[in-house]
Amino acid sequence: MAFLTLEGLVKSYGSFKAIDGLNLEVQQGEFVALLGPSGCGKTTTLQSIAGFVQPTEGRVVLNGRDITHVRPEARGLGIVFQSYALFPHMTVAQNISFGLEMRGVAKAERARRIAEALDLVRLGGLGERYPKALSGGQRQRVAIARALAIRPDLLLLDEPMSNLDAKLREEMHIELRAIQRDLGITTILVTHDQVEAMTMSDRIAVMQRGRIVQIDTPFEAYERPHSPFASAFLGKTNAFAGAVQHRNARCCDVQVQGALLHVPHEDRALGNDVNVYIRPEKLRLTQAGLGRLNGHVRLRVFLGNLWLIAVDSHLGLVHMTQPNLGSLPPDEGSEVGLDWSDDDLRLLDREIAHGQV
Ligand code: ATP
Repeated sequence: MAFLTLEGLVKSYGSFKAIDGLNLEVQQGEFVALLGPSGCGKTTTLQSIAGFVQPTEGRVVLNGRDITHVRPEARGLGIVFQSYALFPHMTVAQNISFGLEMRGVAKAERARRIAEALDLVRLGGLGERYPKALSGGQRQRVAIARALAIRPDLLLLDEPMSNLDAKLREEMHIELRAIQRDLGITTILVTHDQVEAMTMSDRIAVMQRGRIVQIDTPFEAYERPHSPFASAFLGKTNAFAGAVQHRNARCCDVQVQGALLHVPHEDRALGNDVNVYIRPEKLRLTQAGLGRLNGHVRLRVFLGNLWLIAVDSHLGLVHMTQPNLGSLPPDEGSEVGLDWSDDDLRLLDREIAHGQV
C-alpha cells in the first residue's frame, strides 16, 4: 500500500476547479515533484495535503490513516514554503526549538535534535546566530532543519529554493536530495523549475489544469513525454507537423514538407495528422550533403559547456545543441547538414497537440 494516497481530489472555487480529480500514490521514502506552470494547482494540492486547504471532494490518506479532515498541526508534517519566514527575534536554535516545544519535546531531547538537525544541513555551531546574520542559503537551510527536527512523516516543500541565486540553488538541490535519501523521508516538492524537479525527485508528476497528466521517473518523462505539453514543459524540443504516409504495426513514415521521417515503435492510421518531435541534443551537425537535412546556421550561441545552434532548413528553424569539446562549430551563415537516429524521433497526434499545448 502506498504511504501517501490522494484519491479523486477536487478543490472548487465557485465554478472553477483548482484541482480537478487528482489521484496520486507516493511510496514510503519516495521523493515526488509536482511540476507544472503557474496556476496548474500545485500549491493547492500541497496545501490540501498539509491541511491548509479543505478539498471539495476526495481523500488524503497518510500511512493508512484518512487525514482529509485532520487539523494541520495534528498531521505530523514538516513544511518548507517559499517564504520560509524564520522568527527574526529568535536565534537559529530557538527557531528550530519552537516546533519541538509545541510538540511537548523535553528540553534535553530538544537540544539533541537541534544539534542533529543543524549538523544535517551543515550549520553545526551556528545555533546562537540570529537569522539576519545568515546568508540566504543558510537561512534556507535553517528552515529545512526546522522542518526536519520534528521528524515528520512527510516533508512538503513549496518552491523552497526560489529565493536563492542559481548557483546556490543548484548546490541546495544536491544537498537536500542527499539529506532526504539519508533520512528516507517521504517528500513532495512543488516547483515550476524542471531542472529542480529532475535533479531531486524519484518521480515527476507533470500537472496541467488541476490534474496530473503524466507521472514517471525524470528520465522516462523527458524521453517519452505523453503529450506535447509534457514534451515542451520538460526541456526544449523541435516539432514538425506532418501526415502518416506509410505504416505497419512497428513504425510510421511521416511526410513532413516533402521529407519522409521514419518513426519506429509508433503505429498510427494512414493520413493521420501528427507532430514528429526531436530534442536538440539528439541532432548532430554534419558537413552539408552528408546528413539527412541541409540548412544554414542562422545562430550560434556559446553557453560554456554547450553550443546552441539554430539551423534554417526547409523543415523550418531547427534547434540543436552540442557539447563544447574545445573547437568552434561552423560560423553563422555556413551551410551544414543535420543527422539523427530514427529511434530519437517521437510522435504525437496533432489533435492532442492542439488541444493540450
Ligand atoms: P504557482 O506556480 O503560480 O504558485 P500553482 O500551480 O501552485 O501556481 P495554485 O496556487 O494551486 O497554482 O492555484 C491554482 C488555481 O487556483 C489558480 O488559478 C488560482 O488562481 C486558483 N486559486 C487558488 N487559491 C484560490 C482561492 N482561495 N480562491 C480562488 N481561486 C484560487
